Amino acid sequence: MGIRLHFWGAAQTVTGSSHHLECAGQNVLLDCGLFQGHRQQARDINSHLALPVEQLNAVVLSHAHIDHSGDLPLLAKQGYGGPIYTTPSTVDLCDKMLKDSAHIQESDAEFVSRRGRYRRSIGVPADGAAVEPLYTQEDAAKAVDQMRAVKIHEPQLLAGSTKDAGFTMRSFDAGHMLGSTCVLMEAREKGQMMRLLFSGDVGRKGLPIIRDPETAPKADYLIMESTYGNRLHQPVGPVKKKLAHLVNRTIARGGHIVMPAFAVGRTQQVVMLLHELIDAKEIPDIPMFVDSPLAVNVTDVFRKHEEEWDQEVRAFVDLKEDPFGWGRLRYIRSVEESKALNGLHMPFIVIAASGMCEAGRVVHHLKNSVEDPKNLILITGFQAENTLGRAIVRRQPEVKIFGEPMRLRAEVDSIGELSGHADQRELLEWMEPVVPTLKKVFLVHGEPEAQQALKGEIERIYKLEVVCPKRGDRYEV
Ligand SMILES: [Zn+2]
Repeated sequence: MGIRLHFWGAAQTVTGSSHHLECAGQNVLLDCGLFQGHRQQARDINSHLALPVEQLNAVVLSHAHIDHSGDLPLLAKQGYGGPIYTTPSTVDLCDKMLKDSAHIQESDAEFVSRRGRYRRSIGVPADGAAVEPLYTQEDAAKAVDQMRAVKIHEPQLLAGSTKDAGFTMRSFDAGHMLGSTCVLMEAREKGQMMRLLFSGDVGRKGLPIIRDPETAPKADYLIMESTYGNRLHQPVGPVKKKLAHLVNRTIARGGHIVMPAFAVGRTQQVVMLLHELIDAKEIPDIPMFVDSPLAVNVTDVFRKHEEEWDQEVRAFVDLKEDPFGWGRLRYIRSVEESKALNGLHMPFIVIAASGMCEAGRVVHHLKNSVEDPKNLILITGFQAENTLGRAIVRRQPEVKIFGEPMRLRAEVDSIGELSGHADQRELLEWMEPVVPTLKKVFLVHGEPEAQQALKGEIERIYKLEVVCPKRGDRYEV
């Protein structure tokens, strides 16, 4: 027997997670994520899926982040009608997130259609027809309808497969975000069985709100993420103190703080930390805004799925009414309210999506903040190459916002401590229980430098064969 692996996305890069598996004539896609980067390149890559939809039997989704789920509406648009298996909270999150992603695609296409300079930057004639969105909210709704909720640990035979031929999946808590999993795929053919473990995104111990990653199950092959394969994070513990220091310093010089954050996960964590700091009187009770309709909707999903909270949230809820809300915290839905923040001349904090500053309301806030040295741009997560977020983290003297060059004079800092991704040491620890049965490791979801560093460590410590596939590479195991 054998499994054929076809690496399609997040291959030597960190976005667009998508891996195609085939065994006994059954084709399964692990994740179907949105690729983010240069506009033109992103459009090209996102419009091409790993295989024609009519050949696809099932999709397995590791978690709701857009770089893992964001091309599912495209799959639906191209005619895929089969199931998408994932956890119950991921279904609820995707319901909000994919519709939001579609809304961004629609607004972006409309915006590009109106702007000549933009049209040229993505290779579209300035006076041509309107630019088509990658997918619409209708496509997103269709994708969500196709989702099948499967509880963690529950074995699920995939559509098209039988007990003797094809795939069974079982998921384990990845501790990366609400509903995140790593997935064990059992492939069967001709009376034989092979196990392939897909790490999804591996989380960390001690993160606010979410539970710690579970012990990884035994497998013959491993597809593992490597985002921080060459880095060691600061411990999570002191992050609150650092956040307080940065907030107080910015307030003292009369500036405001823009925090680009993923609406899902990071926003709720930051909100809870700020709530704790205000309660402890370590920062003043200044106005704070979560400027993202998506974050509002998603926070409700967090409240609903109590079964996934960690001890800290439980303790918080036992003492107070709501970790995600208090007097001067405002959740902003309307564009008018969002725009009104531009006229606010007093210290405040605005948390807005997207996390990598590529789209969404955060871009407008950055446009109004980057040129004033009093302000602080506080980065809260990983910034992929060729994104505005990466340019800001690198403190490039000039950054392009909506195609216009702007001077980056605001202070830039980051709180990498909240990273939802395991670092090099944590990845090595996470995979350790799998090592005794492993025959080969495929590293995905990492930039080449990170992958090479992690590959070196896995080879040195565990004496395993490690490959870092490129987009389009095929293997048979
Ligand atoms: Zn993720």
